[in-house]
Amino acid sequence: MGKTEKIYNTGGFGTRYGVGIRKMFLKVEQKQRQKQECPSCGFNTAKRESKGIFCCKKCGARFAGGAYLAETLSGGIIKKMVGQKKFASYLSELVESKEKKEEAEKKPAEEETRTAEKKEPSREADKKETKQKKTSRKEEK
Ligand SMILES: [Zn+2]
Repeated sequence: MGKTEKIYNTGGFGTRYGVGIRKMFLKVEQKQRQKQECPSCGFNTAKRESKGIFCCKKCGARFAGGAYLAETLSGGIIKKMVGQKKFASYLSELVESKEKKEEAEKKPAEEETRTAEKKEPSREADKKETKQKKTSRKEEK
């Protein structure tokens, strides 16, 4: 038993482990066995050596990547973040700006509460007025 028409390389497992697991394994293994792009020379000549270790046959570069693929989605995102270099200083700027915002928000918030307290009695007065108007209308009828 080796390669079969329906289950390809997982034919070696025979009937063991279940169909679902064999299919999942197949999806990963097929990608893992393909030649991957080398980051130093750019050719699709890198092969997986071990978990997360890839080696390029053309230029001999050895590099770390994902467990099964040379570059994963999350790995690519982090690569970009690190490549920007700013991101550490950007973080400190973010924290500073947040602190400033919080301080700025505190002061007007206090003022707002004061003004709100002042406004409240006037609102109650308005309500009373409207009530009086309503009662007066009823009296008119
Ligand atoms: Zn290479």
